Amino acid sequence: MKKELLFGAIIGGLSYLAYIGYDLTPLLIIGVMGVVLLVISKRNGLLKINSYQKVVEKSKFKFEDIGGQETPKQELKEALEFLIKSRQASQMGIRPLKGILLTGPPGTGKTLLAKAAAGYSDAVFLATSGSEFIEMYAGVGAQRVRGLFKTARENAVKQKKNRAIIFIDEIDVLGGKRGSHTSHLEYDQTLNQLLVEMDGLTNNEDIQILLIAATNRPDLLDTALLRPGRFDRQVKVDLPDKAGRLAILKLHTRNKPLDSDCNLAEIASETYGFSGAHLESLANEGAILALRDKSGTIKQLHLKEAVDKIILGEKLGNRANRQVLHRVAVHEAGHALVSEVLNPGSVQQVTVTSRGNALGYVRHNQKEDQQLYTKSELEKQIMILLAGAISEDALLQERSTGAANDFQKAMQLTEQIVSTGLSRLGVVSVEKIPKSEYYLICQEILKDLEEKTKKVIDDNKDTLTRIINILKAKEKINGTELRRLMEVDREEEAAIIA
Ligand code: ATP
Repeated sequence: MKKELLFGAIIGGLSYLAYIGYDLTPLLIIGVMGVVLLVISKRNGLLKINSYQKVVEKSKFKFEDIGGQETPKQELKEALEFLIKSRQASQMGIRPLKGILLTGPPGTGKTLLAKAAAGYSDAVFLATSGSEFIEMYAGVGAQRVRGLFKTARENAVKQKKNRAIIFIDEIDVLGGKRGSHTSHLEYDQTLNQLLVEMDGLTNNEDIQILLIAATNRPDLLDTALLRPGRFDRQVKVDLPDKAGRLAILKLHTRNKPLDSDCNLAEIASETYGFSGAHLESLANEGAILALRDKSGTIKQLHLKEAVDKIILGEKLGNRANRQVLHRVAVHEAGHALVSEVLNPGSVQQVTVTSRGNALGYVRHNQKEDQQLYTKSELEKQIMILLAGAISEDALLQERSTGAANDFQKAMQLTEQIVSTGLSRLGVVSVEKIPKSEYYLICQEILKDLEEKTKKVIDDNKDTLTRIINILKAKEKINGTELRRLMEVDREEEAAIIA
C-alpha cells in the first residue's frame, strides 16, 4: 500500500512539474540510472542481506526424534540449561554461553541436534549456512552477519520469545583461518563481524541468543573462534555405534510397513560405518525395493539389499558373461575362504552380483571401533586381500586386473607395518631409510604373506570349489551358509583322521 502511495505521489509531482513547464529530462535520466543500479545489485545479491529469513522456524523437533547420539544430546541439554535459566546463571555471575560447536562427519545429525536444541529451550530457530555469507563484494558478508543477529532478535520479539538459537552449518566456510583465503579481506571482515556479534552477547539483554555452529573440519577454523568466551563448548557428533544405528533405524521405519520377519538389530550390526543419513536412505531404499517387488510389506531381504545398494550402488542390469562370472566367483570365494580360515565368523556375505564399480565383493562383520591393530591382525588383513588373486592363480592358472584395488590396499597395510616399527627392521624413519631398502622390506613381507595365503588356498581347494559352485548358481552366500559349508569339510577331515 505504502509503495502505491509513493508511486502515485511521484507521478503526481512529475506531472505538476511538467505542467508548470519544468524540464524533466535530468530527473528522468537519474531515475532510470537508479532503477538499473537497483536491478543489478538485487541480481548480485547485494541487497539479499536477510536471505536466511526464509528458514526461521518454530522448531517442534525434539531430542527424542534423534536416534542414538546420547552423549551429544546430554551435553547439549546441559549447555541449554544455562540459556533456559539465564536469570539464575546471571545472579551467580556466570557469563552466558555464547556458542556451541558441533563437529563430526557428514550426515550424523548435527542439524537435527541444533533444531532439537531450539525446541528444547523454546527458542526461535534461525538456520543458515556459512556459504550464505560469502560474496565477492567486500562488506556484504559482514552486513549479513549483522542482519542475522538482528533478524534473530526481531523474530524472537515477534514470536514473543526471549531466546533465539542461530544455527550456522558449514561454519568453516565463513570461520576459516584469517589470511588463508585469496580474497581474504572480505572473508576476514565477515569473520571479524561474527566475533564482534558474539562478543556483544550478554546476560543482560532481553533476548538471549545462542549460536550453534556445525562443521566437518574443526581444524580449519580460526583460533579466535575457538577461544573460551566464543565457541566454548565443542560437542563431538560421531558416527553412530550399533545401539545408535538400531535406534535410528527404528525411527526411520516407524512410518513404514515392516514385515514380521524384519530384524533391525541384524541390519544395525551389518551397517558399521553408516551415518544417520545413510540409515535414513537405507530405510527409504528398502521401501522402494519392496514396492518394486509388489510386496505389501518391507521384508528383511529388502533391507539387506538396500544395505548392498548403499555400500556399492545400484545393481547393474547386464549380468557378467559366464567366463567373467566364473573368474569373479573364484576371486571372491578366495577372499571369503581365507577370511573365514584366519578369522572364523568374519564373513557376513559374499556376492558375485555387479554393483556400481564392483563385479563382486565380500562383506565382513566389522568389529566396532577398533583403533589399534597388532602385527598379526594387519598380516591377516593383507592375506585376505591377496587371496582373491591367489585363488585365481590356483584355479585358473592366471591372475586378472580385478585385483588391482586389493593390491593397492595390501601395499598400504604393508607400509603401515614398516612405518609403525612392526617389521624386521624395527623402529625406522621411513623418510631416512634408502628407498631401495624400503621397497625390499615391503616386498619381503608381501612375498611371505603370499606364500602363506597360497598354502591356505591349496589346503582348502575342495571347499573353495564348493563355494565357487554355489556362488555361480545363487549369486550370493551369507556368512552362516559359508561356515556350514566349511564345517562339512572339517567334519569329513575329522572322520578320516578317526
Ligand atoms: P552435514 O554435516 O552434511 O550438514 P549433518 O550432520 O548436519 O550433516 P543432518 O542434516 O542433521 O546431518 O542429517 C541428515 C539426515 O540424516 C537427517 O535429515 C535425518 O534423516 C538423518 N539422520 C542423521 N542422523 C540422525 C539421527 N541421529 N537420528 C535420526 N536421523 C538422523
